[in-house]
Amino acid sequence: MKKALLNIDYTIDFVADDGALTCGKPGQDLENTMVAVTEQFIRDGDYTVFAVDVHDKDDAYHPETKLFPPHNIRGTSGRDLYGRLQATYEKNQTQENVSYMDKTRYSAFAGTDLEIKLRERNIEEVHLIGVCTDICVLHTAVDAYNKGFRIVVYKDAVASFNQAGHNWALGHFESSLGAKVVAFRDE
Ligand code: ZN
Repeated sequence: MKKALLNIDYTIDFVADDGALTCGKPGQDLENTMVAVTEQFIRDGDYTVFAVDVHDKDDAYHPETKLFPPHNIRGTSGRDLYGRLQATYEKNQTQENVSYMDKTRYSAFAGTDLEIKLRERNIEEVHLIGVCTDICVLHTAVDAYNKGFRIVVYKDAVASFNQAGHNWALGHFESSLGAKVVAFRDE
């Protein structure tokens, strides 16, 4: 079965200590696994998507403006990938199987051409890594479920600022979305 990696929102704003909307240490602890999973997918020739939140400053029409402090503003370094993942992306960005897409909502499917890109490649299974487990990863998983994709979530490559939300989402992936929740490091 053809599979794709969806690499969600592992940016400076969402992960670094001085990020605008950071998960902090739980996010930082994923760095090595994020890089390892990403490099394996790229090396194996599997479709690898970096789906990265973008906002315009003071966007009065965006629902997140009322919910969160400004983050991942277009053109700022807060949108760069965190840690060594940025170098992994830069080194591989010209590969045929590597794609970078802006997203403006929690789900990587909302308002993007992700579904078309996956269908063109006959991909039936999406593997999810990144942050936050209970927000952008969750909403992407829900859309993937509704569109009929099989789902795999790497529990050692997702994190949240909200530990209870993280734990709840891991259970929800399995019990309600039929996802396989696995540890990359055990494989
Ligand atoms: Zn956002």
